[in-house]
Amino acid sequence: MKRTIAIKLNISDQQSEALCELQEIFTKGCNQVAAVALLEKERNRIRLHHLCYRNLRQTLPRLGSQMSCNVIAKTAACLKALKRPNQILFKRGCSVHFDKRTYSLKGNVLSIFTLRGRIRVPLKISQYHQGFLDVGVLKEAELVRKGKRWFFHVVLDLPDVLPMQAGRAMGLDLGENVLAATSTGKLFGGGLLRAHRDRFLGMRGRLQSNGSQSAKQRLRKISGREERHVKCVNHCISKQIILEAQRNGCTTIVMEDLKNIREKIRAGKKLRSRLHRWSFDQLRQFVEYKAHAIGMHVQYVSPEYTSQTCSHCFSLGIRSKHRFSCNNCGSLQHSDLNASRNILGLGLSVDRPTGDVNRRHVAALSGGR
Ligand SMILES: [Zn+2]
Repeated sequence: MKRTIAIKLNISDQQSEALCELQEIFTKGCNQVAAVALLEKERNRIRLHHLCYRNLRQTLPRLGSQMSCNVIAKTAACLKALKRPNQILFKRGCSVHFDKRTYSLKGNVLSIFTLRGRIRVPLKISQYHQGFLDVGVLKEAELVRKGKRWFFHVVLDLPDVLPMQAGRAMGLDLGENVLAATSTGKLFGGGLLRAHRDRFLGMRGRLQSNGSQSAKQRLRKISGREERHVKCVNHCISKQIILEAQRNGCTTIVMEDLKNIREKIRAGKKLRSRLHRWSFDQLRQFVEYKAHAIGMHVQYVSPEYTSQTCSHCFSLGIRSKHRFSCNNCGSLQHSDLNASRNILGLGLSVDRPTGDVNRRHVAALSGGR
């Protein structure tokens, strides 16, 4: 599997100047290639290379042949990521793409290409990162500037982890009342987190209705901050979810196929817009990759009825906000925990198609219709 590590560069002012210069010319190159790509409606890297390379070498000779290839590779990758690329503009702070010919990392010395010749930067590599570097193979890299600080994001190809032997499973329900609930009984991300999120949304609403130039500017700033906040929280929660599975000796995590999550959430308009902003898919991806990184299995089940079925007796019950009540067996549960137990049941039934769980579950569902 691939993994990216970000290493901070401690460099002199002079070196920083050289990197700024490289970044500026690199960005120019990208915009030049993007203009051709849009004109010719071309996204393929090799065909773009044929279209742009010679011109690029003439207009920006200092980039050198290899960096010119990197310019084309980066632009092609960005174009590919866009659904409808009718306009693409690389801004001044755009990251610089490096391949193995334009950088090397030996021991703790990084050597990178600049327009003034190679610069060598001694690195302080943490033990955590060193662990990856010891076993991984270096791939491409990006040079990123954040304010006055520079970071080098290196992609590593890590050896595959052996999958765990099949064992216990844990059901995981993502996002209705709380962000995540596990069948082992843990709830993640209610309370404080929600207050934080709502503050963001309140602010956003006010700025959107204001509509002035400065409000728009502030909105952009806030959106970036919100995105980073969501990412950070999703990282923390996914990590805790994996720990919870490990603590309970589980080797499989069962989740819903989240493609239909938006239809699943039945809430008022206001709450719905709030829920949709939260990046469930990002949380799911984080859980999946963190699980796979240690050889844990991930299984997906259909989300139908998971929140309406009683996890004890499998008949349809009544859900209102956090509470789930069953008229058949009289059980009262937290609605998200109930859902996570149903997801676990569905996951188990997939493994054992003739099993008890499956038959009872199907019977209850067909009876409910
Ligand atoms: Zn029941």
